[in-house]
Amino acid sequence: MAMITYACYSITMQNETKSIHFRPPDLQPGNRPLVSPVYQSVKFTWESYEQVASLLKGENQGYFYSRVANPTVAELESLIAGMQGRDGAVAFASGSGAISSLMFSRLKAGDHVVLFRESYKPTRQLIRGILHKFGVRHSLLGIHDIAGLEEVFKKESTKLVVFESPTNPMLCIADIAAICALAAKYQVTTVMDNTFAGFHNHGGLPIDFFVHSLTKFASGHGDVMGGMVVARRELIDLLFTDAMTIGCTLDPHAAFLILRGMKTYHLRYRAAASGATEIANGLSKHPAVRNLRFPGLNGHPDYHLASRQMQDFGTMIAFDAPGSNESDLAEFLNRLKIFKVAASLGSPESLVAPCKLLYGTDLGTEELTAAGIGETTVRLSIGLEHPGDLLADLLQALK
Ligand SMILES: *Cc1c(COP(=O)(O)O)cnc(C)c1O
Repeated sequence: MAMITYACYSITMQNETKSIHFRPPDLQPGNRPLVSPVYQSVKFTWESYEQVASLLKGENQGYFYSRVANPTVAELESLIAGMQGRDGAVAFASGSGAISSLMFSRLKAGDHVVLFRESYKPTRQLIRGILHKFGVRHSLLGIHDIAGLEEVFKKESTKLVVFESPTNPMLCIADIAAICALAAKYQVTTVMDNTFAGFHNHGGLPIDFFVHSLTKFASGHGDVMGGMVVARRELIDLLFTDAMTIGCTLDPHAAFLILRGMKTYHLRYRAAASGATEIANGLSKHPAVRNLRFPGLNGHPDYHLASRQMQDFGTMIAFDAPGSNESDLAEFLNRLKIFKVAASLGSPESLVAPCKLLYGTDLGTEELTAAGIGETTVRLSIGLEHPGDLLADLLQALK
């Protein structure tokens, strides 16, 4: 191989100037790195003022400032959009940043939103707390209440219906086709948080906006945060300027790490989903396990819906630990050796979360009961350890 020649602006520069205005080596056309480099630069320049002006006037595409656009972030957006079966996406600094930016962009004072009590707590708090302060109204329904949904759509002109499937933390399955059909009939925009199901699920359904927390399965190792809104290009165009102004933009280095995680996404998701099936089956035979929730169990109320709608049954399980109060719960959690008490999901480590404390403190007693969250309810996030070890850990803690 021949020597690589170095590029430098001018040998007449002093070292102070050289150390700032050095140049990366130019690659020959056709010579590309197998792993894309991270564009860890906030600013991008052009050869001439005319090129900058044409970019800023919208006559030309390109990069200028990374809060607005960055090649590494764009690579991740195009990957996730494609996997979810859409042609547009915007990345955010977290899943919550994605959801709140979308809501602030789509809603104004007086608008009405439908959400469900089976939902991620910060999403409820965003709509019931923060957006309420700006005059946005909402109705809270049960995820299976399709008749109630039509009643609300009939009574109230509604802007958005916001839902999840499987729901966090109790793993109910939403009848997505039924929700989308009603939304289309009443001209309501659908927003689905698809974090639990992943990028390989639900893309064929007529959902307007998908939101994802990339902190979970995309990053995959519990060490990077990110979020994404995915939709048809024309819907993303409406969101883009508002999102850039709100400014919860994903950092290029985080995007680079998430792109690395995405290379093993399918392997990891499949392994965890298969482990979850094995563990749920094992738990279903244990007499001390009550209220077991895993959509892939034949006895789960939404099993047939999940089988129709999803390619797998996800990686999450919920059930009630033995006993009836917080100290019974503590006893069970403290006996676990491999499962760590932690929020979140999608990491190699298996996790266990106390549901009431982590996901239900904003719900009243009646809402908690209706959501199926009791004093000892726990949610398992199955990781990548050997499923036999995980089941053995649970069984010894149930003794
Ligand atoms: C984690 C999560 C979010 C929020 O994502 P962050 O990246 O933590 O902000 C939103 N929805 C669901 C279903 C989640 O599990």
